[in-house]
Parts: sequence; structure tokens; C-alpha cells
Amino acid sequence: MPDTEKISEILRKLYPDALCSLEHGGDPWRLLIQARLSAQCTDERVNIVSVPLFARYPDARSMADSDISELEDIIRPCGLYRTKAASCREMSRIICERHGGKVPRTMDELLALPGVGRKIANLVLGDVYGMPGIVADTHCIRINGRLGYYPEEMKDPLKTEMILDGIIPKEEQADYCHRMVLFGREWCMARRPRCSECPLRELCARGRNTEEERKRNG
Ligand code: SF4
Repeated sequence: MPDTEKISEILRKLYPDALCSLEHGGDPWRLLIQARLSAQCTDERVNIVSVPLFARYPDARSMADSDISELEDIIRPCGLYRTKAASCREMSRIICERHGGKVPRTMDELLALPGVGRKIANLVLGDVYGMPGIVADTHCIRINGRLGYYPEEMKDPLKTEMILDGIIPKEEQADYCHRMVLFGREWCMARRPRCSECPLRELCARGRNTEEERKRNG
């Protein structure tokens, strides 16, 4: 089993702020919408689209009442814009009608919103409500498999969440997952991870294997 404490310590030094790359300004509804838009789209693009989007629809009420084709036009650059527009408008409507305009604070209520799965729910709970939660996104699943917490071939978000939930201290979970995203972009990329110079190499199952292989091959 990897040395979680040491790994977390190195990640904390690398990324002390552990900021979410979606610029939501602490507003749970905005984060919810941005997280929905980020499916198969980069956070960078979502942040760009967020500017006109939230200027036009500053809150759940205005988005719930939006004209769907106008909403689709604004979020078109994020891809899958029809489905995303429909679920953003519907989730905003439900938030207004069932939750008094406020994003709910429980996993079950969040999961009842259209287009919201455990990844988005955990992101909102952790990032704006300060609750524990593992955001099992592609970076988190890939990197923790490589580190050796579970077999690298395992790509199951729910299993990843359950395994890491039992390992990463509750109070650190949200930050740990933000750091995974930043680390995955800078060091442990999907295609060409920078193992030979990686700060986690000695603590990482894949990093150690790569090193041994390199030595064997001279
Ligand atoms: S050693 Fe390689 S596989 Fe392991 S965390 Fe670093 S970049 Fe990723």
C-alpha cells in the first residue's frame, strides 16, 4: 500500500492552495452548472463560457426561466450543448421549486438533480460546503491506480471513491482531489507521464517499475 502521508505531504507542498480549476467564486449553483458543462470539455473552456453565461443568468431562477435556444447558444462551445442546456435549466428549476433556490447539501438530494452524478455531487459538497468527498474523475482514477492503491486497469469511479474514502483523511479529501487534477495536468498525464523526474516516483508503484525497467535496460 502506498505511503499516503508522504504522498499527501508532497502534494501539499506542490499545490498549497489546492484550488478548484472551475472559477465559481464560492457559489454552489455556479459550480454545479460549471461541473455539468465540463463533461467532455476542458475546465478552461468552461471558465470562458461562464462569463457570458452568468452575466445573462446570474442565479437559478433566471436560468430556470431561460429561453432554451438562447441558453443552448451560449453554452454551445462546451459541446453536447442540447443535453447540457436541458439539464442545467431543469436542475435550476428543481432547485427553485423544491429547495427554495438553494443547492441542496446532501448526496441524495444532489443525485436527484438531472445530470448530476456522484462526481459532481462530491465536488459541490467538498468545495463549497466543506464536507468530505472523493471526486473520482479521470485524473483521480488514473493517478491513484498508478500509485498502487488499486490495479491500474481498474477504471471504476464508484470503487475508486470507496477505496480512497477509506484511506484519505476526511478533512483532506476535497483538497486531495483538487491536487490530483493539478498533478495530473503537470506530471502524471494520461499519455506520457513524466515518471523519470516525478516528485512521487519513489512512492509510486508504476514509477518504481519504470525505474527498474530503465536500470535493467541499461
Ligand atoms: S511516477 Fe509516473 S505514474 Fe507515478 S505518479 Fe509520477 S508520473 Fe505518475
